[in-house]
Amino acid sequence: MGRPMRVDDLWFKSADRMFEVRLGGAALESMLELCRRAKRLETGGVLIGRYSSDHRVAHVDVATGPGSEAQAGETWLVRGVRGLQKLLDAFWIQERGYYVGEWHFHPGSDPSPSGRDVSQMRSIATSDCYHCPEPLLVIIGGDPNGAYSLHAEVHTRTGCRATLDASSKDAAAAHSSGAARFGDQE
Ligand SMILES: [Zn+2]
Repeated sequence: MGRPMRVDDLWFKSADRMFEVRLGGAALESMLELCRRAKRLETGGVLIGRYSSDHRVAHVDVATGPGSEAQAGETWLVRGVRGLQKLLDAFWIQERGYYVGEWHFHPGSDPSPSGRDVSQMRSIATSDCYHCPEPLLVIIGGDPNGAYSLHAEVHTRTGCRATLDASSKDAAAAHSSGAARFGDQE
């Protein structure tokens, strides 16, 4: 039952610097814990946080689990919806944040989004239900106990899709702690 080492905040940025994300260490830690528990199955949930006043930076503070009625296989996940609105309402009322996107796990494989992942994000970006015109997608791939990597991208209501790269300073820090490995880093 070794406590996982404390995970630091990670920063991601789009090449044009239009979008920036701070993935809070506590959120990442819960994601990794859910991945460990899911073992060889996919898991995931929603990301809760807030935007900077200029809307350029998304701060992700909480990552939820998939919900009790979720179903998952090795390469697919249908997350639950029943408890989600209640949870988001509670966060909203307590001014603790709101829906900023989705995350899920690709067990034992790379974190590149599938065609289905991309079309799902497109429909969330244009849906009125989520009130989120620029949802974020974070995917963890690999082994949550060892070498894992992260992918982050933002979708816009107008159909744009921007990949966010881990900013090098923090990627280097993650390397030195041995906790994370980043795809597409030099
Ligand atoms: Zn996926």
